Amino acid sequence: MGIVEEVGSEVRNLKKGDRVLAPFAFSDGTCEFCGKGLQTSCLEGGFWGGQNDGGQAEAVRAPYADGTLVAIPQEVEGDEKLLKAILPLTDVMSTGHHATVSAGVQKGKTAAVVGDGAVGLCGVLTAKRLGAERIIILGRHEKRLAIARQFGATDVVTSRDEQAVQEVIEMTKGGAESVLECVGTESSMDTAIKIARPGGAVGFVGVPHGAGAINLSRMFMSNIALHGGVAPARAYIPELLKDVVAGKLDSFFSSIRCNS
Ligand SMILES: [Zn+2]
Repeated sequence: MGIVEEVGSEVRNLKKGDRVLAPFAFSDGTCEFCGKGLQTSCLEGGFWGGQNDGGQAEAVRAPYADGTLVAIPQEVEGDEKLLKAILPLTDVMSTGHHATVSAGVQKGKTAAVVGDGAVGLCGVLTAKRLGAERIIILGRHEKRLAIARQFGATDVVTSRDEQAVQEVIEMTKGGAESVLECVGTESSMDTAIKIARPGGAVGFVGVPHGAGAINLSRMFMSNIALHGGVAPARAYIPELLKDVVAGKLDSFFSSIRCNS
């Protein structure tokens, strides 16, 4: 997040002084994939900090500024708490939302979230936002699980692997319609596939750690779909930003309350 100091001659939608938000990838906003809301596959795009400027610097050149950056509403200016609540949209909140969307979370249904890291916690928030009635989180960190409950998790599973699978299958009588895989290890993916209800879907957003085996026979026999990948945060930011500004989506205030 930063303030625009200067714009290039072809920039149309931003001006000096605007406060803007940048997702973790930049994109031109005009190619086939940007048009499909898959800006992470932009034909001209890339990731900050590779061959381009990194976001930790005091000043950064934003490529394709009109496509990459999102202006933050002027009314938020000066509200430090709200600005801090907006910041996670650049990465973890959009990624949690991508897991939710990829797992096909539906109103009144059950979502299981594998992992209690920042993305998993944002997965809980966004699954609740889309109306999941029951949200089961699988994790092992007491403080994070307490935050998950604040965010809307209805059930907590602290065991692992086969034990965790058994518990979720029992409590859901056959598995969760939507499973959000927010870790990226072979065992977390395995757990996610095993706790998905027949006909359900796994939305995976954990960066894969090594090339693990995928339980294709379980997916085949129970018609379980696998969607997801790197989150096209740019596609989601405008929609999520509205909710954060309206006070309807909040990953910051609640967690601060929990830690204090
Ligand atoms: Zn593009």
